[in-house]
Amino acid sequence: MENPKIAIVLGATCAGCDYSLLDLPPEVLLDVLGKVEIVYWPTATDFKLEDLKAVPDGEIALTLYEGAVNNEENEELARISRQKSQNLLAFGACSCFGGLPGLANVTTREGLFRQAYLDAPSNESNGVTPLRVSTVDGHELTIPDTFDTVRALHQVVPVDYYLPGCPPPLDLIGEALTALVTGDLPPKGHVFGSSKSLCDECDRRKESKSIHELHGIHELIPDEEKCLLEQGILCLGPATRGGCGYPCVKMNLRCWGCMGPTPESIDQGANMLSALASVLGLDRETDLTDEAIEVLMKQVKDPLGFFYRFTMPTSLLKRAVRRNQ
Ligand code: SF4
Ligand code: SF4
Ligand code: SF4
Repeated sequence: MENPKIAIVLGATCAGCDYSLLDLPPEVLLDVLGKVEIVYWPTATDFKLEDLKAVPDGEIALTLYEGAVNNEENEELARISRQKSQNLLAFGACSCFGGLPGLANVTTREGLFRQAYLDAPSNESNGVTPLRVSTVDGHELTIPDTFDTVRALHQVVPVDYYLPGCPPPLDLIGEALTALVTGDLPPKGHVFGSSKSLCDECDRRKESKSIHELHGIHELIPDEEKCLLEQGILCLGPATRGGCGYPCVKMNLRCWGCMGPTPESIDQGANMLSALASVLGLDRETDLTDEAIEVLMKQVKDPLGFFYRFTMPTSLLKRAVRRNQ
């Protein structure tokens, strides 16, 4: 019997997700590699797009698509991946929710390029911006056109499975690959992760007490036993799906929410805003004036980057309203 074919496809990505494949315990990695046929993985070896296009439609048992969809090339790869695969898995937070590239949805393509190449204080491009088409040594080079709005994979093509995380937790990668090689894939739509929130799994002591002051993680050394949020440190655990083993919290760092929203939530940021209002005591009768509440909420530095760090494109907001609309 032939080994199942797999492909690992890169969209708008930092490639951290597929590098994490190499961090799998050797016994898991070698076991899986011995039982699959890799038909496309450009990070690992010299695969070309033509190799992927040459695979007959529907012949790949599982494609891991990593990264968001941010330009023409990402979209083409997403469509080819769907066409060639029996099962398509959104691999990592960028693919599942838009991830960090999705924060570009607060601006437009022009705004993004202006900030990246002209306005950023660290920029030394002397006003030079990338050309879409250029000629080098007689060869015409074209870079893919960037979209105005970053999308998650399922906003472009139907997706069968989701494996969130930035990068995805090794245990969950092992679970997904083992499910493939044993022919025991879960029902379509399954999210590899926990059905609980991170707070439900976190073993820090929670006393359900209200706080009135927020602190940056650099401003104090938190008590390692107590809930970070109850110490005034913005931790996204209440609004985040569990299953990662909360490595950040174990290192006395806050959770940034890379596993995405909890199963019952449709908007991680709104869910966290509600949890924060509760811990600040703003969801019940309060003596605080509107001005005092505003001062309190202004302690949340970079609210967009906190509430929607990984999920802007799949949130209820999706993107900022364009001025001309
Ligand atoms: S999810 Fe994280 S590690 Fe994976 S591509 Fe996106 S930014 Fe990189
Ligand atoms: S808010 Fe953070 S530290 Fe507190 S219980 Fe939840 S995950 Fe743990
Ligand atoms: S603790 Fe939070 S940020 Fe860290 S891996 Fe888990 S979900 Fe991601």
